[in-house]
Amino acid sequence: MAEIRIALSKGRILDETMPLLARVGIRPKGDALRSRRLILHTTRKDVRIVVVRASDTPTYVQQGGADLGVAGLDVLAEQGGDGAYQPVDLGIARCRMVVATRRGFDYAAAVRQGGRLRVATKYVNLTRQHFAAKGVHVDLIRLYGSMELAPLTGLADAIVDLVATGKTLRENGLVAVEELMPISARLIVNQAALKRRRPELQPLVEAFARAARSRRP
Ligand code: ATP
Ligand code: MG
Repeated sequence: MAEIRIALSKGRILDETMPLLARVGIRPKGDALRSRRLILHTTRKDVRIVVVRASDTPTYVQQGGADLGVAGLDVLAEQGGDGAYQPVDLGIARCRMVVATRRGFDYAAAVRQGGRLRVATKYVNLTRQHFAAKGVHVDLIRLYGSMELAPLTGLADAIVDLVATGKTLRENGLVAVEELMPISARLIVNQAALKRRRPELQPLVEAFARAARSRRP
């Protein structure tokens, strides 16, 4: 039987996908969370987990480096998400994509006045679309992490970032002022692989869908 590869990123996605995988009957061998191996064998001989960077997951699946993957809607929406089939909302890694500013910054007034807003984010495409739809001019500042720092240092007026509990925002004196979209992680599948190897892959996709449905909210 040919190998089935599932692309997962370390951190939230791997942590929260693990219980779903267990329900599907797949457990990584050894200590997946600590291991530095990038390809993990599992209790299913034909299934391997490939450990990728979160923003690389769609590329691996679209280009066939992996057959399946788990990617946040933030990453999929930002990158366009075409090319990979998205059959299942796994309901994990839930959060919201928001505009946040320093507490005390009058966002409504800034938007009303129509001046240019400096917005820092790693989601430049979604941010551009969001403000274009509102008719607000923005200077986009592309960052790769710790977006919260940008308004605190005067680099930007606002950020577009993910929040779950709001703790990081709060601890840095920031507030969410607008929501772009709710986010959760999706199972993605290489379309050509699904066509070619449907008897192997379709049952796995369905097992993921059942595991996601039976998760307690
Ligand atoms: P890296 O940490 O390697 O730079 P990353 O920040 O994208 O990459 P994670 O922080 O593990 O990696 O995020 C992976 C995915 O988890 C995101 O794409 C998003 O879908 C989800 N996620 C990120 N932040 C949160 C959050 N605060 N709450 C819930 N889910 C989140
Ligand atoms: Mg991160």
